This record gives sequence, C-alpha cells and structure tokens, in this order.
Amino acid sequence: MAKRIRVIGGGLAGPEAALQAAKFGCSVDLYEMRPTRSTEAHQTSDFAELVCSNSLKSESENTAPWLLKQEMRRAGSVLLAEADASAVPAGHALAVDRVEFSRRVAERIAAEPMITVHREEVTSLDADDSETITILASGPLTSPALAAELQRLTGSGHLAFYDSISPIVDAGTIDMEKVYMAARWDKGTADYINCPFTKEEYDRFLDALTVAETVPAKEWEQIPAAEVEKQPLHYFEGCLPIEETARRGRDTLRFGPMKPAGLTNPRTGRWPYAVVQLRQENLRADSYNLVGFQNHLKFGEQQRVLRMIPGLENATFLRYGQIHRNTYIHAPSLLTETLQLRAHPGIMIAGQLSGVEGYTESIASGMLAGLYAAALAQGRTPQPAPRLSANGSLTHYITHAEAKRFQPANITFDLLLPLEESLRKKIRDKKERHRIQCERALVAWDEWLAQTLAAGQ
Ligand SMILES: Cc1cc2nc3c(=O)[nH]c(=O)nc-3n(C[C@H](O)[C@H](O)[C@H](O)COP(=O)(O)OP(=O)(O)OC[C@H]3O[C@@H](n4cnc5c(N)ncnc54)[C@H](O)[C@@H]3O)c2cc1C
Repeated sequence: MAKRIRVIGGGLAGPEAALQAAKFGCSVDLYEMRPTRSTEAHQTSDFAELVCSNSLKSESENTAPWLLKQEMRRAGSVLLAEADASAVPAGHALAVDRVEFSRRVAERIAAEPMITVHREEVTSLDADDSETITILASGPLTSPALAAELQRLTGSGHLAFYDSISPIVDAGTIDMEKVYMAARWDKGTADYINCPFTKEEYDRFLDALTVAETVPAKEWEQIPAAEVEKQPLHYFEGCLPIEETARRGRDTLRFGPMKPAGLTNPRTGRWPYAVVQLRQENLRADSYNLVGFQNHLKFGEQQRVLRMIPGLENATFLRYGQIHRNTYIHAPSLLTETLQLRAHPGIMIAGQLSGVEGYTESIASGMLAGLYAAALAQGRTPQPAPRLSANGSLTHYITHAEAKRFQPANITFDLLLPLEESLRKKIRDKKERHRIQCERALVAWDEWLAQTLAAGQ
C-alpha cells in the first residue's frame, strides 16, 4: 500500500509538490489555512498567490534563472507552465498576471482527483506516523503555532529576519510626458517605464529619503535574543530597503536600483543621472511596480518621498512598500539532499521555509519535494537532483552551506559547479563559460529526469 502524502501550504511550493506527487498516482491531502487564518502579506485566499512582485525573473538564455526554469519546464513543472500561460510583457523576464496565474493553478488542483483540499490551519506534526509522508511548505510566514511545532520537532531555533516589498502605482496617474519607455541596452522589448532624474532632482530625493520616517519594528519582527547571538540582525542583501541602501553612500542607489546605464532618454539622447524603473504589473497594464524600491517607510512618508520621482508627482499608490518576516530552517544541519529532515525522514521541507529564496526557487523546490515524496510513498529510494544542474545546485547549497553563515539563496552561477581549471584557463569569456555550464547542466538534468520518471512507472 502506498503511503498518503500530506502537503502543508497552498502557496507556491505546496501546490507544485501536490500536483507532482498526484501525477505519480499518489493520494495527496493539501492543507491551506487561508481564508480561516491569513498571513501578514497574503491578500487573498487563492492558491499560488504572488505576495509582492509579479516577476519570475530572467528568461535571457544561459543565465542562472533561465537555466532553473528550463530544467523545470523539462520536468513538467505545473506552476511554471501556468506562469508561462499567464505571462505579461516584461522584456527579457518572465512576469505574470497574478490573478490569472492563481486562477489557473486552482483549476489544475480542482481537476486533479488524487488531491483533496483542506482549508484549515495545521498546528501539529506527527513524526511517528509511518503511513504518511509530510511535505511542509508553509512558507516564510508559517503560522506561529506550526512554527513552534517545527521548532519542537527539530530541536533547533529557526529565525526571523527582515525583508521588504516594493510599492505599486496606478498606471493612469504616471505623467507620461516626463517618463520614457526603454529596455536597458535595447535588450528585449521596451516594456519598462523609466523616470529620469537630473543631478539636482536626485540630490533632493536622496536628502528626503534618508531622513524619512520608517515604520517601527513590531513585536513579531523581533528576533529572539538567543538567535541574534547566533546570527546578527541583517537584511537579505537582494531585498535591501532603499532607505537602507541610500544611507550607505550618496551614489549607492545610482549604482544599484537607480542605475541609468544603457537607458538612453530619447528626449535628450543621453542617459539620465539616475533612473527609477517601473515594471508592468498585470495584463491590462494599469498598474506598475517600482523595481527594487522595497522600503519600510511610513505610508504617508512613502507618498511624500516617492512623489518626488519625476513623472510620479501625482501618482496614486495602489500598494505601499512594507516590511515583513521571513522564517526558514537551518537546512545545512537539518535537511538531506532529498529535502527530508535528517532526524525525521517522513517529514520533508520545501519552498522558502527550506532556505531557498524567491518565487521560482520555491516552485522548483516544491517540484523536487513532490517527486521525492512520490518515490518515498511508493517504497522507492529518491535520487537527489544532479549536482551539475541548477535545481541540484540549489539543494546542494542549502544542505551544504557553511553552517554559521547560512542565508537563504536565489539561484546564481555561484551555486553551480565551476568548470574545471583547465577549461577555465582556456575560456576567458564569462558568457561562454556560463553557456557551457548551462549545456552540461541540462545534459545531467535530462539523464536524471529520465531515470526518475522511469523508476516511477
Ligand atoms: C512579503 C514577501 C514578499 C516577497 N516578495 C518576493 C518577490 O517579490 N519575488 C520573489 O521571488 N520572492 C519574494 N518573496 C519570497 C518568496 O518567493 C515567497 O514568499 C514565496 O511565496 C514562497 O513560496 P512558498 O510556497 O515557500 O510560501 P508561500 O507562498 O508563502 O506559501 C505558504 C502557504 O502556507 C500557508 N500556511 C502557513 N502556515 C500554515 C499552517 N499552519 N497551516 C496551513 N497553511 C499554512 C500560507 O497561508 C501560504 O499560503 C517574498 C516573501 C514575502 C514574505
């Protein structure tokens, strides 16, 4: 008799895991606590809600996010297929209409007879239940009761740190006379709106930003003293709030999220001094995300300061930037390469909670968890994704990272196996090296995939 699979979390990793396991003929119970109980960031009770940006990152060939997605497409990731089907124009990135994406995922779950949905909060984990494989995919905002249960089970503290989300503006309130459409270095289509700054405008903006009032940390955002000792309080670098970046130096923003390089303003024929980029949020193009403008200023302050951006003087903000909690386990000490808790192999961890960072990475992790759980439920030994692949590298990172400095990770080439020394010496061009890394990753991935699928038949 095959074991049942219990998936906790109807965000990104959970539905992907459930759909993958169901494909192998496994019976799956999928638990989602919304709408009974929500999180600080979710706004709907939909499956696969994207809580912030609508981007699943680069589609440029031979980049690391592209490679991850290519592997997922080859493996039949259901959520990625639905993301492709809900895509909106975003230059060389994959961005989706978030409502359409969630609707499609819900449809796929409803159409799968092997999945039973339970709309309830899970508060306990039974490590001794030998009849069930549990996939915990309750995300960075895992409910406190379940987080406490996980802490009890793993015996180690998992920690909260700060992350923040970007504001969204109403497209109809952008002054199109001041802004311009362009793709950086003319790469891809010109889908981004660019708000150009002169030096004087930039200086005024920076002065206002650095003294604007921030939201005080609430109690739930505080890291327990014992955790601070283990790992000092920090922001995840990829999601640093702009006011924090601004404080690091007067030019730091201009070389970061406000970088003007490659964005020629057709009105002047030159690059502006600095730029804020706006990315389309949905298919109707009626709202735009301020790219890289996550912050935790008070809402009134955000309105005042962000309206100093040329073109946004009269902008209506549909959502303001916000601060949020991020919960994840210490994967290097707790997790195997097949995403099972070392001490309780019947319990698996997937998605952001496992220490990967990002929408695509969370879906990828859910996909692997679903494949591994199906093998375990059917009495087979799951084979971890190959180290050469992007998926395998991401899991390898979270399970082998230096324990003291462990931080969640996006997929990057740094995580992939480097080329052999002799090849590295021969090939100086970084792009060519990346192309070769991608090529060999896909060969290894296809081999592993063929074996995994054959074993499940
Ligand atoms: C505010 C915020 C903004 C982010 N912005 C971005 C971004 O712009 N781009 C990006 O790539 N990544 C972003 N991330 C990181 C990450 O990619 C997302 O959090 C992603 O949704 C993680 O997927 P997941 O499936 O692991 O978790 P989630 O998508 O959060 O899914 C977990 C689900 O579990 C449910 N749940 C929690 N506890 C329980 C329980 N006890 N019982 C039952 N259900 C439970 C939750 O309601 C939720 O639906 C952001 C994260 C946060 C918190």
